[in-house]
Amino acid sequence: MKKISLLGATGSVGTQTLAILREHPDQFALAAMAFGENIQTALPFIHEFKPDLVAVKNKQVADRLKIQLDSSTRLVYGIEGMIEAAVHPDSDLLINAVLGSIGLEPTLAAIEAGKTIGLANKETLVTAGHIVMKRSKKLGVPILPVDSEHSAIFQSMQGQDRSAISRIIITASGGSFRDKTRDELAGVTVKDALNHPNWSMGAKITIDSATMMNKGLEIIEAHWLFDLPYEKIDTLIHRESIVHSLVEYADHSVIAQLGCPSMLVPIQYALTYPSRLTLKQTKTLNLSEIGSLHFQKMDTHRFPCVSLAYHAGKTGGSMPTVLNAANEAAVQAFLAGKIAFLDIERYVERALTNHHVIKDPDLKTIEAVDKETRAFVKEQIN
Ligand code: NDP
Ligand code: MG
Repeated sequence: MKKISLLGATGSVGTQTLAILREHPDQFALAAMAFGENIQTALPFIHEFKPDLVAVKNKQVADRLKIQLDSSTRLVYGIEGMIEAAVHPDSDLLINAVLGSIGLEPTLAAIEAGKTIGLANKETLVTAGHIVMKRSKKLGVPILPVDSEHSAIFQSMQGQDRSAISRIIITASGGSFRDKTRDELAGVTVKDALNHPNWSMGAKITIDSATMMNKGLEIIEAHWLFDLPYEKIDTLIHRESIVHSLVEYADHSVIAQLGCPSMLVPIQYALTYPSRLTLKQTKTLNLSEIGSLHFQKMDTHRFPCVSLAYHAGKTGGSMPTVLNAANEAAVQAFLAGKIAFLDIERYVERALTNHHVIKDPDLKTIEAVDKETRAFVKEQIN
């Protein structure tokens, strides 16, 4: 029996993680869970999975939840609460599916506590990959990818000679606007952007997919997870989202992982690695029915966020922190109806241009740069 700590339990990845726990009650139990403020979604989960500890965003949410729980559930709040959930003494594995760079401290705390981590929270690696990976390597704590592309790459590396990898190819569905021209992109609405053709996900990552910043973040995520230089990381548009990513080796052999698009598969692989379990909730891939698959070069003119991410990643230091924080702030403003779709990339670019890179930033510096960048974007918007 594996005991799990789950951060972001009410979110898209979080609820799918719980769906897997529900399918395999003899394999997994929930030791602790954290969420923000969505009590309505969380309450049935708390009753069903009976975690020992529940962490919420702040005291107000905790007070509202407290009156609806019996005394056997411990209730904590704030970033300290989330950290407590991440390092719960009973848990064997942390699934970090919280949204945004707020997931960084709990990730680091879990590494220090020696908890294996299934990482969905890509912002953590974008903003502070050098710190996270250094500590995880030093302490020998595995970080297993949950992001579908990275899980595909990880699966395609099993039993292989990693020193013979010539490149990895991250596939991209193209998001909600893959067939739109730049002119058309200028006028799209929040509702259009939230309508993803292949995946049902949280709002922020759905917008990231539409701007293609999601691929940008994934490039940096892959750089850290697999310790590969940016020159060996490629992207490819693949509209069907069947080939989840590929690894090319020195002999030009290419190994890929395929499947119907479902986050359940990569989430479960992180939960069971290196074993596999059945997964009734997903469909068999029927290639003869699908017939043909399509691949297309990434268009960085239409989607400059990919180039911005390469630039930030290659520059290194504090630049990826700026990329991530500016993007989080700009996406928030877009979702709130304050800026237009194409303004997202403009504000990110402006933040990158405005920033003087700091080499090898420590945690305090990263937190400061994150805060300053969000303030800079807000100020620019106003
Ligand atoms: P959602 O927006 O659906 O969920 C986010 C979760 O984080 C919710 O449980 C939310 O709680 C919680 N949360 C947000 N802010 C706080 C806070 N301050 N304190 C505590 N909890 C908080 O996001 P997704 O599930 O889509 O994405 C989660 C992460 O996984 C992201 O990093 C994303 O990039 C990554 N990812 C997601 C994929 C997907 O298919 N969705 C695929 C690959 C990666 P509440 O709602 O209760 O406030
Ligand atoms: Mg992904």
